[in-house]
Amino acid sequence: MSADPTSKPSVNWAAVLMFVFTTAVVVIAVPWYGIAHGYHAAAWIWFTLFLGANGMSITCGYHRLMAHSSYEAHPLLKFAYLLFGAMALQNSALTWSAGHRVHHRFIDDPQRDPYCASKGFWFSHIGWMLHEYPSGAVDLNTVKDLQRDPMIMLQHRYYVPIAVGVNFGLPILVGLIVGDFWGVLLLGGFLRLVVSHHATFFINSLAHMWGAQPYTDENSARDNGAIALLTYGEGYHNFHHMFAHDYRNGLRWWQWDPSKWFISTMSIVGMARNLKRVPWFRIQRALLDNQFQRAERRLASLPGRAHMEHLRIRIAEEYDAFSKAVAEWAHLRDQWLEDTKRAMVERWEQSNLQSRLRELEYGLRLQYRRMRVLQAQLG
Ligand SMILES: [Zn+2]
Ligand SMILES: [Zn+2]
Repeated sequence: MSADPTSKPSVNWAAVLMFVFTTAVVVIAVPWYGIAHGYHAAAWIWFTLFLGANGMSITCGYHRLMAHSSYEAHPLLKFAYLLFGAMALQNSALTWSAGHRVHHRFIDDPQRDPYCASKGFWFSHIGWMLHEYPSGAVDLNTVKDLQRDPMIMLQHRYYVPIAVGVNFGLPILVGLIVGDFWGVLLLGGFLRLVVSHHATFFINSLAHMWGAQPYTDENSARDNGAIALLTYGEGYHNFHHMFAHDYRNGLRWWQWDPSKWFISTMSIVGMARNLKRVPWFRIQRALLDNQFQRAERRLASLPGRAHMEHLRIRIAEEYDAFSKAVAEWAHLRDQWLEDTKRAMVERWEQSNLQSRLRELEYGLRLQYRRMRVLQAQLG
């Protein structure tokens, strides 16, 4: 790496050639073969199966399990993640997680976020991999916990042979078995890889540019249901950057997040455990906090018109109630933890505490709705 910060970083030829070659095959050979010979249904089925296995190994494995430790997985499940994650050709789980943890810590910092969205769509989508940018240098100090895992280290050490082996080996093997060598190689090999790449890359590019910011607008991450459809649920990225250790990205039951459904199914069948969930109250608190900050900025930008005055008073009252609820919740949580530690809490006291906590949560939910109405009146 050059010591001169103004000099242009050198080209990462391995990445450039890989992207150019796989894209050229998909743009030229895949349609040509389809027109000249046609694809069997088996080739499309294996395209879908490999694509799903790659995508979910990145989201449930590389991302939520390894980069964020949002749950624990059975060694067999971890093995599958490492195998099909290597097939997605996005580097070893160790390198991937190191970069991703830096992305969370220094989000939007052009000097340090490896796929900084403020440097534009192209850079955050793919450009960051095409040059040896200083912000892309891998710091393995951020993944000391993962370095203690022999399975992760084995994949890291032999990443290139494993990745090349599964990328060619699996489609070739399946192609020979189903009797459509070229069809499965082109769809299950090349098309699958290129689609899988861009689906993940959208999380770094589009999910930082397009969508709502209900939890915080202090960083560029967005919640977007359409991007969640393309990315196995990772489109709820505003929530994710706020609560990265929650195994869910789409919080509500109806939000499209197949990764969350897969992880909870794995926990039901005994392949995953200790799924981390952020307490509901903290989520509501973050939503309301964001509303108050927005209202405050809006009020500050408006001239002191008389009809705004009653809104200002209403919002101040809401904020007062909010602060009291937050303080009471913190107090009840402390009391709850203390009592459980001493194991002397009576059953009726426990249920009393719990129902008061639930009341507070419900109160915040109602307050959130009222704040949305007030926000709309502010314009
Ligand atoms: Zn992000
Ligand atoms: Zn993340």
